Amino acid sequence: MDLNFSDEDFAFQMEVRNWIKDNYPAEMKARKQRSPGGHLSKEDHVYWQKALNTKGWVAPGWPVEHGGSNFTPSQRYLFDLEMAHADTPAIIPFGLGMVAPVIMKYGTEEQKAKYLPDILDTNVWWCQGYSEPGAGSDLASLRTKAVRQGDHYIVNGTKTWNTMGQYADMIFCLVRTDVDVKQQEGISFLLIDMNTPGIEVRPIVLLDGGAEVNEVWFTDVKVPKANRIGEDGFGFKFAMKTLSGGRIGIAAQALGIASGAYELALQYSKQRKAFGTQICNHQAIAFKLAEMATDIEAARHMVMKAAWEKDQGINYDTSSAMAKLFASRIAMKHTVEAVQIHGGNGFVKDYHVERLMRDAKITQIYEGTSEIQKMVISRSILKN
Ligand SMILES: Cc1cc2nc3c(=O)[nH]c(=O)nc-3n(C[C@H](O)[C@H](O)[C@H](O)COP(=O)(O)OP(=O)(O)OC[C@H]3O[C@@H](n4cnc5c(N)ncnc54)[C@H](O)[C@@H]3O)c2cc1C
Repeated sequence: MDLNFSDEDFAFQMEVRNWIKDNYPAEMKARKQRSPGGHLSKEDHVYWQKALNTKGWVAPGWPVEHGGSNFTPSQRYLFDLEMAHADTPAIIPFGLGMVAPVIMKYGTEEQKAKYLPDILDTNVWWCQGYSEPGAGSDLASLRTKAVRQGDHYIVNGTKTWNTMGQYADMIFCLVRTDVDVKQQEGISFLLIDMNTPGIEVRPIVLLDGGAEVNEVWFTDVKVPKANRIGEDGFGFKFAMKTLSGGRIGIAAQALGIASGAYELALQYSKQRKAFGTQICNHQAIAFKLAEMATDIEAARHMVMKAAWEKDQGINYDTSSAMAKLFASRIAMKHTVEAVQIHGGNGFVKDYHVERLMRDAKITQIYEGTSEIQKMVISRSILKN
């Protein structure tokens, strides 16, 4: 695996940077920066996804035959970095990153034809229904029940933390179809139309940074059996696979946040003067910058290694957990340092570092907390 960037990689980076300049409307960026949590409307997200789609960049992780971008790990890294630096809409719609890979791998030909084109074109908006009020890290204890009745399931229960659930046309959901087998084995994966009678979306008040989240309540919701992916009892396995892949994306997001904070801090430290010199000339500040640059370089290697293993078809469960654990940790640590380097201005929205600090925290929580990443890593170490 070559971890150096080639001239083509740098040319690609400039292409992405210039494209963002031409296509990311200033008003949209201003709307994002004005909103307390950095939120955008569905229309903004749809605009952005359609704009990316004109370049073939909307689905970096998809195979080309389904409309994917076929990026190399270096290009993927540089793409995520440029997007993070420009503060573009951070949330990649779930349809693209989470449900589509499951449909591609485990869905029937009918399901692929029915769902994939609409996901790519933003015609159908998805949200993810894994977590429940009593099941987050311990996903296998989920209780939303789907009881089979002929060609349908009847679903009852509550999902929570459903990002963008208020806009969603569809939810991909983990449900318990068998209560008599071991916890993980009784779970199935259903694609549920959010307009089905019996579904209610209740917003959860928001958070600083991160996303807009909801609860989704199911009361006697009728779901065709044809909307199940794979056989009954395989849902947990599919979900774990999507989470492994998703972790590389969150690690890249965390790395983008850390790199953005580093560059803003570096720039500021060269301009701001105290005690007769630029603050970067004070060793305490220079050492902070040195720590940041070192950690970012280490995290970059880890993210690219995980992405490379995924591309090669090698098992990447451990490397993706390590990349997420480390990249999210340094994102948190160094965004705090970037605020410190900005002094009082670090608290001012226009300087942007306080936003990055708030955005960093969530990368240690969603798609599996840092503690859960350590469980994945330690299990793999102890097994060998
Ligand atoms: C902004 C946001 C968006 C989200 N979006 C979605 C979404 O769209 N869809 C969705 O399904 N979910 C979503 N989530 C949920 C997210 O995945 C969970 O919050 C996360 O998995 C943690 O679960 P929990 O909140 O129930 O915490 P808990 O599982 O209750 O964990 C609480 C603490 O205990 C620790 N802990 C738990 N078990 C262990 C253990 N065995 N050993 C050591 N420590 C442990 C955890 O690491 C954590 O620190 C979102 C969350 C947030 C905050």
